[in-house]
Amino acid sequence: MPIADNISKLKSGIPIGVKLVAVSKTRSVEEIMQVYDTGHKIFGENKVQDLVKKYEALPKDIEWHMIGHLQTNKVKYIAGFVDLIHSVDSLNLLKIINKEALKNNRIINCLLQFHIATEETKFGLSINEANEILSSKEFSELSNINIVGLMGMASFTEDQSLIRKEFNYLANCFDSLKNDYFINSNDFKELSMGMTLDFNIAIEERSTIIRIGTLIFGERNYN
Ligand SMILES: *Cc1c(COP(=O)(O)O)cnc(C)c1O
Repeated sequence: MPIADNISKLKSGIPIGVKLVAVSKTRSVEEIMQVYDTGHKIFGENKVQDLVKKYEALPKDIEWHMIGHLQTNKVKYIAGFVDLIHSVDSLNLLKIINKEALKNNRIINCLLQFHIATEETKFGLSINEANEILSSKEFSELSNINIVGLMGMASFTEDQSLIRKEFNYLANCFDSLKNDYFINSNDFKELSMGMTLDFNIAIEERSTIIRIGTLIFGERNYN
């Protein structure tokens, strides 16, 4: 099916209130424009270099999300335009994002990435680490970042009940942090979870942002 049909079909099946990030990593400007021309304007990339290139080449009303691991020395390249960073996993990274946001006279929206999968390779915080960051004096002094919720990736497995358990755990962490640190915040409301293979389970477990690549663009070719 053509890309435009894939995204229309996908969008007609997801509940109102669930935001779709079209994950365009490895995809060309032409492929992204096929999605853009359907009226969809939210895209996610996982590498800073690609994000910057595509930002420069594509229409300026696109909302760009950084979904991949972010190194502190690369924050400066995206701080001027990025709409949401999904992958914040340390206080140090938050401090650098804050510093670069200040330079650009912006407030940058961030999600705390949690490690919920059984694989060791996936980045992210534990609930204890998140508590440590959010209760610190240093965090309270960061004026130009806005924590809007949590992000997590489930295990890469056929075991649907494990995936559900992991998403459910992330939603519980969200509730706990909301209660402890963000009870008066209208902004802390997002749960970024769910990809091509598991977004239906994620939505059932209260996802508000799904990140979909393959289902829109087809299988990725990394060569
Ligand atoms: C690649 C990627 C996705 C999209 O994966 P698909 O299985 O192609 O939908 C979502 N989130 C992150 C962090 C990714 O790196």
